[in-house]
Amino acid sequence: VTNPPTNSPPAGEFALIDWIRSRTPTGPNTLLGIGDDCAIIRTTPGNDWLVTTDMLMDGRHFVLDRDGPEAAGRKALAVNLSDIAAMAGTPVAATVSVALPKTHARTIAQGIHEGLSPLARRFNVDLVGGDTNGWDGPLVISVTLFGTCPPQGAVTRAGARPGDQIFVTGPLGGSLLGRHLHPEPRILEAKALIESVPIRAMIDVSDGLVSDLGHILEESGGLGAALDLSHIPIHEDARLMSQADQRSPLDHALNDGEDFELCFVVGPEEAMRLKAGLHPLVLHHVGEVRSEAGIRIRLADGSVRSIVGRGFDHLRP
Ligand SMILES: [Mg+2]
Repeated sequence: VTNPPTNSPPAGEFALIDWIRSRTPTGPNTLLGIGDDCAIIRTTPGNDWLVTTDMLMDGRHFVLDRDGPEAAGRKALAVNLSDIAAMAGTPVAATVSVALPKTHARTIAQGIHEGLSPLARRFNVDLVGGDTNGWDGPLVISVTLFGTCPPQGAVTRAGARPGDQIFVTGPLGGSLLGRHLHPEPRILEAKALIESVPIRAMIDVSDGLVSDLGHILEESGGLGAALDLSHIPIHEDARLMSQADQRSPLDHALNDGEDFELCFVVGPEEAMRLKAGLHPLVLHHVGEVRSEAGIRIRLADGSVRSIVGRGFDHLRP
């Protein structure tokens, strides 16, 4: 739901983004502005660039003393790569900006670089600049990543239609047990997918499946979805976390963030082709897009329940 324009920003991260979006006209060089995994910038016709940025903060996205600067650096690039994957793009170059704590600044900077560089090389990302600051605060890393669109055109969140089929690329939930520090960007998977079938809409699961699928449904014109519990791939980590916190494994799979798998939507015929498996990918068919708004899930006993996203919101009070 897009909030109506008001004079002061409403509560909540996504409402704030909507508020900014409603006040930011799309400029002449912008094919797609605020509100997707990447923006699409056009310099010359047929030459479109993807751009995305993510900021990671000590104590929120990683814990420096526990995880080390290498993991923080690697994750800072990986989450941006995941957003390029969500558009089926190819990463090209990145800038890395850091606010370094004054104590151990050089060791931390070296660790960040050593964590980030192998991933950059693996995905052919040139590191082309950034900004290096020091302060008395905690470590903050901000990466901006540029990429190119696939020949088929970038996949946005906005193309789903009723009757389309919903897939995810891997098991979900429990990433906070440690997996969230080592996300595997699905760049090659997205490329293989778009070369197999037209993809109508796609997003990476950063805030939880229900929340992120919700973005696709919202951007596609206020659609809904029917999920099937028996088809949701629940990660072993979700089961482990469930034993500790009494939330069900399904709850973790639906609402935990930072899985960084792709959630995408294809037409019914394309879904059959994907399920026939003429590609090297492991895919999970989790449900169907419906015209009626809201996300519902069919449980093991056949009953159907509405679910509301409780995915991560940075500005939730
Ligand atoms: Mg994203």
